[in-house]
Amino acid sequence: MIHVVHHPAYVTEAPARSTYRWGKNGAIRDLLRAKGDAVAWTEPELILPVWLEAVHDPDYVAEVLEARVPPDKTRRIGFPITQQVAHRARAVPGGTWTAALLALQHGFAANTAGGSHHALANTGAGYCVFNDLAVAAVRLVEQGVVGRVAIVDCDVHQGDGTAALTAGRPDIVTYSIHAEKNFPARKARSTLDVGLPDGVDDDGYLTQLQATLVPFLDEHRPDIILYQAGVDPFVEDRLGRLAVTHEGLIARDTLIADLALARGLPVASTVGGGYGDDVMAIAERHVAAILTLGHRMRAWEPERDRNVARG
Ligand SMILES: [Zn+2]
Repeated sequence: MIHVVHHPAYVTEAPARSTYRWGKNGAIRDLLRAKGDAVAWTEPELILPVWLEAVHDPDYVAEVLEARVPPDKTRRIGFPITQQVAHRARAVPGGTWTAALLALQHGFAANTAGGSHHALANTGAGYCVFNDLAVAAVRLVEQGVVGRVAIVDCDVHQGDGTAALTAGRPDIVTYSIHAEKNFPARKARSTLDVGLPDGVDDDGYLTQLQATLVPFLDEHRPDIILYQAGVDPFVEDRLGRLAVTHEGLIARDTLIADLALARGLPVASTVGGGYGDDVMAIAERHVAAILTLGHRMRAWEPERDRNVARG
């Protein structure tokens, strides 16, 4: 049984003048629905504005929730904020939060949206409105649910918003492995950044991931991983620059699960980037990530070997 968090508001009409291809969240839902009883569904509550304001400026939160975001910010986001989009923007962080709680209970849960890692304190950016990863992480530690959260971001673009919104907090650590020359041009500083050259293939990607994520987890000893499982490192991704194959992405997500299992860490995953004309193919890559993690994490046992050497 794989725990999946989904809200009907994730699937919404594309607002006019959107440069973002909407519809993949509905395709992800449909592909997972076809798995029948293998998936346990949870519908999240909308996140309360107070938790959005814990990481975003209250003025920006109000602009979004009242659907009056100024044009300069709309341009940075990539689509206008209608009432419907604002509603969705509260549902998505609610989903990542709910996935984290389910993961703490069952070892793994996936949000079928989220991973909005470019959203900053006073504006959204790069198709991201509110930063669900930072919102969920801050709520987890401020409510005392866990002591430390690791946000592991394997989207091909740097998790700049997440890094900026959680900077200076000892209870939240951020890891980003990305194409160095890709968006955003100006990088923020994560706890650990791994910038890859263009064209890195499966072997190069997995070697770098293993070599950097193992010491990161062992140094910071988080209690949970929030995993941004963007599929845009894929070789054919329109905004990628890397050359990771379908098998390489599966190996990536298997590695993430195995590193978590070896440390007794629960994993809550979000989607993330994935760009191209074939929405169904992109949705299939996101679903492959969710199923790979879900199947692998079945072996999870909480707190296993916490005080023993970690491999
Ligand atoms: Zn991306």
